[in-house]
Amino acid sequence: MAILKDVKGIGPKSLSLLNKIGITTIDDLVTHYPFRYEYLIRSNLLEVNDMDKVIIDGKIESVPILMRFKAGLNKMNFRLVSNQGVVGISIFNRAFMKNELQVGITVTVIGKYDKKKNVITANEIKMGALSNKARIEPIYHVTKGITNKNLSTYINMALLMHGKEITDYIPKKYIEKYNFSNKRTALNIVHNPPSDEKLMEAKYRLKYEELFTFMFKINYLKKQNKSENLGIMRNISKEQVQNFIKTIPFELTKDQQKAVDEILNDMNSKGRMNRLLQGDVGSGKTIVSFIAMYMNYLSGMQSALMAPTEILAIQHYNNLKDLLKKQNINIALLTGSTLKKEKTEIYKELKNGKIDMVIGTHALIQDDVVYKNLGLVITDEQHRFGVNQRTNLQNKGMKPDILYMSATPIPRTYALTIYGDMDTSIIKEKPKGRKKVVTCIKNSAEIKDVLQMMLDELKKHHQVYVIAPLVEDSTDSSELTSVCDLRDKMKLAFGEYYNIDIVHGKMASKAKELIMQEFTQGKIQILISTTVVEVGVDVANANMMVIFDANRFGLSTLHQLRGRVGRGSTESKCVLISDTDTKRLNVMEKEDDGFKISEADFKLRGHGDLFGTKQSGDMTFKIANIRDDYDILLKAKKDSEEYLNCNTEIDEIKLKLVSSMNSNG
Ligand code: ADP
Ligand code: MG
Repeated sequence: MAILKDVKGIGPKSLSLLNKIGITTIDDLVTHYPFRYEYLIRSNLLEVNDMDKVIIDGKIESVPILMRFKAGLNKMNFRLVSNQGVVGISIFNRAFMKNELQVGITVTVIGKYDKKKNVITANEIKMGALSNKARIEPIYHVTKGITNKNLSTYINMALLMHGKEITDYIPKKYIEKYNFSNKRTALNIVHNPPSDEKLMEAKYRLKYEELFTFMFKINYLKKQNKSENLGIMRNISKEQVQNFIKTIPFELTKDQQKAVDEILNDMNSKGRMNRLLQGDVGSGKTIVSFIAMYMNYLSGMQSALMAPTEILAIQHYNNLKDLLKKQNINIALLTGSTLKKEKTEIYKELKNGKIDMVIGTHALIQDDVVYKNLGLVITDEQHRFGVNQRTNLQNKGMKPDILYMSATPIPRTYALTIYGDMDTSIIKEKPKGRKKVVTCIKNSAEIKDVLQMMLDELKKHHQVYVIAPLVEDSTDSSELTSVCDLRDKMKLAFGEYYNIDIVHGKMASKAKELIMQEFTQGKIQILISTTVVEVGVDVANANMMVIFDANRFGLSTLHQLRGRVGRGSTESKCVLISDTDTKRLNVMEKEDDGFKISEADFKLRGHGDLFGTKQSGDMTFKIANIRDDYDILLKAKKDSEEYLNCNTEIDEIKLKLVSSMNSNG
């Protein structure tokens, strides 16, 4: 298999530039798709503006005059007769074309038109006339040092020399079914479109391939999970579980109880559980996951709960310990900042089975963690973990049941893809007594009003969250508000009477924990933070949140943030501060339903924000767009399922698909 530097024309310098834009293989190169096309249509010279880019064809009327300058530069001038009259043409450094440019022949000229002089300074002259249809030019994302033309040349050279080696992931059956062209032809068309129709066809084929590959992976995982020899079959008594549920200080909602039943059913059956527990922020997913851990404990196995942040891990740990305090269950906390000595002890006890339940961050799935009999893995706010991390556990040879919790209600299209391999339980109903959070938008000139609102709440002995996008003022984005800056300002405004502190991701975990504890206990009245409080943190007395630079956040993130307040019995407020983007932020004023908010965000911003920036890589397609190509996605889904079911043996394509899967996760 040829590599990138085998492509003629790509030297060490261009190689490193290509790497810079993420192109490291020939496959990457030929699938570096144009992000748009420019349609070159014959210009009307009377209608264009001075110095506009124009395209025109006509006959050469005068013998080109060639001038040579110093340093090897040259210029040619001639007259062109088009159906719009005569126009002067100059072109630099094309002395080599002089013989071709004979009087009487037809050429197409692309360049800048100087209206006063009636001269086009051409940057390109092509032989022959323009067709009456538009010429379609691919426009690529480039980087300094590589032009659009360079890229086009490299891509075409790669297709010419190595086009046969490019892997096609579509099984023959579907190539025939849809009458698809071969991959090389399709790539060729996408990079050199002869017409709109051909381009559409080629794009369709490449999109289908991309989505087929994706859905194959999802369905492959799903099938693997369903296969009976993978799962753990337990025999947990429903009665025992219900008795435990009775000890919980509140009554489960119907949806929570249903989710518990579904999980129990999964655990007591042969297949492997791979379940998504979805519910708006504050709907009470955590208690359901704790019950699942308890059920798993009843079957004598270990459970691990992964949280996306340390703060949340600590909170879960404390809550779980509290809930199970009457039971003789061994619970451990393991995070990135657990001391080495303690860590070693926890590793030992996970291995010898002394620990029954462990709560932590990513540290839980690191390579050196060995479990005695891990039966259940729960990840909180699963959208923070990529698909690749999901497979991590499987790669380690463990086959525990898996429960994902997500507070991000995602549009159906995404549910189908990113969660396509899972069963779902949904909690719609909120715990009793929850009130809507009153939300309003203020601009930066209205800060005084906001401070007054804060003061009103503080006087009533309530607490306030203040959120900023940055930790410290940074030079390159100084227009954004920072946590440290706000601390200083808040101290000026309220420091005399109230305690103000900050928490952010750059702080040591012990320090964060301490601050969160003090906030929970009411010792701190104003907590200023970055989005680290976004998920999970639960302080009922905090009933107001102020978010600075709200326009910087996606609606789903804002909704999650807002979910931190409105947990107590009093009315809660959320103030979004922004000078721009009010139309989008208006959705937050009106909508309270996370699902509708995510649909709106999706329409306004695409999927970028839905899963957080970290793992949006999972959902980034090179040519397909699951919002616009939903119909192709559905076909790809159906076909890949059919393909998996009909081809129980590994064939060549399947092997390629499965191995492409392991290589990136
Ligand atoms: P999330 O779904 O966002 O994880 P949590 O599990 O953190 O929500 O629950 C939010 C709060 O609601 C917690 O304080 C929890 O104890 C409480 N809660 C959960 N279920 C119920 C219920 N059925 N009745 C009353 N309060 C509940
Ligand atoms: Mg939660």
